[in-house]
Amino acid sequence: MDTINAPLHVSAPKPFALDQQPLYRQLGDAFYTSMPPEKVTSDPVLVHASEAAAKLIGLSPSELALPDFPKVFSGAEPMPGFEPLAMVYSGHQFGHWAGQLGDGRAITIGQARNAAGEIWDIQLKGAGKTPYSRFGDGRAVMRSSIREYLCSEAMAALGVPTTRALSVVGTRRPVLRETVEPGAVVARLLRSNIRFGHFEHFHHGGQPARVRQLADFVIESYFPHLAGEPDAHARWFDEVVTRTARMVAHWQAIGFAHGVMNTDNMSILGDTLDYGPFGFLDAFEPGFICNHTDQMGRYAFDRQPGVALWNLQALAAALQSALPWEAIEAGLNSFIERFVTHYSALMRAKVGLGHSATEADGDLVTDLLGLMKRSAADYSLSFRLLSATDDNPGRAAWTALFDEATRPDAFAWLDRWQARIDQLGLPFERVRLGMDTVNPRFVLRNWVAETAIRAVEDHGDVATLDRIFRLVTRPFEEHGEADARFAEPPAGAMRDLEVSCSS
Ligand code: AMP
Ligand code: MG
Repeated sequence: MDTINAPLHVSAPKPFALDQQPLYRQLGDAFYTSMPPEKVTSDPVLVHASEAAAKLIGLSPSELALPDFPKVFSGAEPMPGFEPLAMVYSGHQFGHWAGQLGDGRAITIGQARNAAGEIWDIQLKGAGKTPYSRFGDGRAVMRSSIREYLCSEAMAALGVPTTRALSVVGTRRPVLRETVEPGAVVARLLRSNIRFGHFEHFHHGGQPARVRQLADFVIESYFPHLAGEPDAHARWFDEVVTRTARMVAHWQAIGFAHGVMNTDNMSILGDTLDYGPFGFLDAFEPGFICNHTDQMGRYAFDRQPGVALWNLQALAAALQSALPWEAIEAGLNSFIERFVTHYSALMRAKVGLGHSATEADGDLVTDLLGLMKRSAADYSLSFRLLSATDDNPGRAAWTALFDEATRPDAFAWLDRWQARIDQLGLPFERVRLGMDTVNPRFVLRNWVAETAIRAVEDHGDVATLDRIFRLVTRPFEEHGEADARFAEPPAGAMRDLEVSCSS
């Protein structure tokens, strides 16, 4: 790979050891605009930072506390040696061709290669306008920044392929939305910023040579095991299909609705990208729509696998000049099977039958989902509490998740499930341990995210944000009694929260 390896020093003594210019530079300037962030603040304040994300780019926990940290990761001060850039892409939004979009409020300020050899883009989201901002102001508000930050790190902890978030920094500058809100900048880490929409941009712009160039670049940079192979492009598309299927299978299993599955929000690496109006299921409602703006329910929870395929078809159309049509067709045709394979395995593991593959086990899962739907039972708790049903209080707690009309069927299902688990011949404790490592006790429910946001916005209370961060980034642990309420579904007014697109 053609990279410039200039060591980076933000200020002495060497706080941020990042060593690489963005690889995208080798693509040439049809793909991006070089420009610094706007300096949206001269007075940034660190709200929270993720030590686990920091580690990915070689930063130690102590470096997060350096005075320069909020300056660099809000764009107030540059990273010397780096020339930041914003990328151009296009996309289909809500099923319609939206034309040119691009990094409208994101700017790549550098790239790091960590000790494991992984490359991570470092992007500031909300650090000002770019040539791709269209009518936007390039800013981000605190509330959406905290949501993206918390959810990125929560999803990673849940084992879902995702972009990461290093930090959220307050700008102490107001941002105008429906009301005036506090501004913030999220430092996002991406294994790559390249989206389906990048390919669509050059294809629909009548530039097939650039589509080909981008495909070559992606293979060389991110799929090096394919580089130089005679059928590299076909195998690459095949892997994109697999990764996308796997990502969405994880979403469906964990009860995550993305909310804006536009093609410009689909990562070419199959990582969850762009945390906007997402939502985790509380009550199990297959047609759950988390995005208030999505009136038609295009991106409803149970439509996500189908939309992923639709998006892959849009990608395929953009790649038609770069690889043989038979390869595209074969890849697309395999999507459903791959999705089902991943999803079934994840769901079987959720009911303690991870190593089993009988058809009847699939029925067990389907029947449980049917009961949950009928009763609007809480999605996460229906699985989490199942592993504690080996005694009477545990059985009572689990069946209490179902309404009275459904409860007899829930008991019957539980007996059926118990009999199947007995057949495994394993100590129940082992089954429980397995289930408790795939069924989270804590997910970032909307009301939980909202609690963190209100604490920061209304009271400058970072301790509550920190507490919630610890729960959702160690989601499989029990944690203390004092935190138990954060595992519960919303109550009162928190039931009626609404979230919508870009803020
Ligand atoms: P989103 O709905 O967040 O995916 O936004 C779609 C496009 O609009 C993306 O390319 C964003 O970069 C851009 N965008 C969203 N909000 C803003 C904003 N406030 N200023 C500039 N661009 C934005
Ligand atoms: Mg987006």
